Amino acid sequence: MANDIQAKANELENEKFELTKKIQEYEAWTKLENLYELKELSAGRLVYGYKKNELNCEPFHLLCPSCFSKKRKSILQNFGITDKGIRYGCHDCKFEIYDPTQKKPIPTFMHDNSGPDGWMSR
Ligand SMILES: [Zn+2]
Repeated sequence: MANDIQAKANELENEKFELTKKIQEYEAWTKLENLYELKELSAGRLVYGYKKNELNCEPFHLLCPSCFSKKRKSILQNFGITDKGIRYGCHDCKFEIYDPTQKKPIPTFMHDNSGPDGWMSR
């Protein structure tokens, strides 16, 4: 009988621990969520952008909307400028998006083959 009570007490203690952990995670996420706002990169293409203000002092960055919806913070990496705009991608879920407002100026004579190993160097 005493063992039963002890087991029950342990069970409740574990449950309390798990719940506390969940609440802490939830609170941490809510805090983080408030640092970002939905941003439209181009028509209908949404990402989460860092809200920069006097309290938030990290450099501006974008978060993957797909990971964000799963309560995961994944920074969109800038893969450089292309003719479709700046290409951003998520390492976590392979989400990709272009920012067409930042296009590469039309090159006069440049191609992906123009690197040191390209045909132009031969
Ligand atoms: Zn992602």
